[in-house]
Amino acid sequence: ERLHNTFQFLDVGRQDPSKKAIEERRAEFVEIYEPYKEEEVKHQAHRCLSCGNPYCEWKCPVHNYIPNWLKLVSEGNLFEAAELSHQTNSLPEVCGRVCPQDRLCEGACTLNDGFGAVTIGSTEKYITDTALELGWRPDLSKRVWTDKKVAVIGAGPAGIGCADVLVRAGVKPIVFDRYPEIGGLLTFGIPEFKLEKSVVQRRRRVLEDMGVEFRLNTEIGKDISIDELLSDYDAVFMGMGTYKYMKGGFPGEDLPGVYDALPFLVSNVNRNMGWEEDASDYISVRGQRVVVLGGGDTAMDCNRTSVRQGAESVVCAYRRDEENMPGSRKEVHNAREEGVEFLFNRQPIAIVGNDKVEGVKVVTTQLGEPDENGRRRPEPVAGSEEVIPADVVLVAFGFQPNPPEWLKGQSVEVNNWGGITAPEEQLYKFQTTNPKIFAGGDMVRGSDLVVTAVWEGRQAAEGILDYLKV
Ligand code: FAD
Ligand code: SF4
Repeated sequence: ERLHNTFQFLDVGRQDPSKKAIEERRAEFVEIYEPYKEEEVKHQAHRCLSCGNPYCEWKCPVHNYIPNWLKLVSEGNLFEAAELSHQTNSLPEVCGRVCPQDRLCEGACTLNDGFGAVTIGSTEKYITDTALELGWRPDLSKRVWTDKKVAVIGAGPAGIGCADVLVRAGVKPIVFDRYPEIGGLLTFGIPEFKLEKSVVQRRRRVLEDMGVEFRLNTEIGKDISIDELLSDYDAVFMGMGTYKYMKGGFPGEDLPGVYDALPFLVSNVNRNMGWEEDASDYISVRGQRVVVLGGGDTAMDCNRTSVRQGAESVVCAYRRDEENMPGSRKEVHNAREEGVEFLFNRQPIAIVGNDKVEGVKVVTTQLGEPDENGRRRPEPVAGSEEVIPADVVLVAFGFQPNPPEWLKGQSVEVNNWGGITAPEEQLYKFQTTNPKIFAGGDMVRGSDLVVTAVWEGRQAAEGILDYLKV
């Protein structure tokens, strides 16, 4: 029996949850994967070899106890699996949906070598989705409240991670966000076909029931000053993200018809959710020839949102090859299935047009010597210019940290690229140079991932607890 169990992976292949039909996907702003059924998830989780050295755990940025909860769910112990999963991750149902698993946990799975990795992400999603639906809630029966309270600025993954750890330790987190809903980029960035908004709203209710207080529509620096927070609270955590768009620095970027990725994506979410304040904010690409510039998650989201809005064509131009794209491979594959055309090794050098966009001039690149990060630098091939016709260009070159002006008077050190200095390796993890202020997520590391922001928020909370001696 034991032998049979161990070699389950030979009998049962990797099976991702099924996807909706392409035509449905191309028209709808809803998640594309069907949920696993109980029997399916048990079989899939059972494929785990429980190898002695779980590389998946090391590669997972929050170091989830992956083999342990795979075992629990394969045996039908769903609530225990959910409890264990929440010990390391504040947003397991979100990470299960949006992590680039192929580069993280599943990429490191021993079975990834020819047999097909265990479907770790989809199982993580299943555990929390199903447990919450069945009424499971985090066990806080042993919590003892202290008299401490902490102000958390930003209700994105970093702020949520921090608040989750604090509230479990009996420290009251008050989370401020300038937006009307929690989630940061989970709500106002990542589109519904990857993460439906109801998932974030459900998490909000769970957190509120745990004792986290959200004060939304409240901007620190405008509605409340940082000085007020510093005098009213025992510590402050900043998880404010990065919102300054990187520019290409080539001619034509200001032509009508050229948009930054985020306003395009956010206007789409606002329209779908009925949150639109001004109808003229909505950016429609219906019937247009769209060119998306970039190769990360944001670019993929622009591609797939354009398809769903009814663009005539969607072309994604990226300066490196497919192998070197920074985004999740799974999402590139999904974009291609939905009809996006990729042009690799194309560097934009100008956006052309008279009084509006008519096309993007690109030059073909070949990969040259590695840069300081070990990634091979794209170099232009002489005489290879061409113009890709376009009515709309969406620019998704990423974001740069842009700390707010009001931080200047707070003795918080900012490094030369705009990130907040808040190292993990020090007495109080993620403390800034102002002892009462901690920071984590994109505003410290630059734009990255949901799961790394959750990790930093959680670790910063540990730092705060040590600092407050609770
Ligand atoms: P954010 O999510 O940016 O949250 C910061 C919050 O702080 C915001 O809600 C903001 O309103 C608030 N805030 C800022 N200033 C103030 C202030 N002064 N007062 C009050 N509130 C303030 N990652 C993945 O892992 N997988 C993906 O598939 C993925 N797709 C992405 C798609 C897009 C389009 C984008 C833009 C990013 C994507 N990411 C993805 C990256 C991921 O969303 C971010 O790395 C993550 O959200 C960072 O979390 P954070 O908490 O640091 O910041
Ligand atoms: Fe994998 Fe992300 Fe879940 Fe970690 S949090 S197990 S990397 S899907």
